[in-house]
Amino acid sequence: MKMRKKSDLPSKVCLRCGLPFSWRKKWERDWENVKYCSDRCRSGPAQSASPAADSLPAPAPSRPKTRTSSR
Ligand SMILES: [Zn+2]
Repeated sequence: MKMRKKSDLPSKVCLRCGLPFSWRKKWERDWENVKYCSDRCRSGPAQSASPAADSLPAPAPSRPKTRTSSR
């Protein structure tokens, strides 16, 4: 009796991270729709740093000091 290789399982390439992943039991019903290797890849970008769009420095308020000439 031969041992069955795990490589017999179908595999796909994750659309997010580009890494190949193999069939899993939890995907047996939904394998055709599986596009990502993990929930992290499916939910969104994990490691890509989002560019800080609005990281403008706060404008310094040029408010004149109220001089108290009362000594
Ligand atoms: Zn992935």
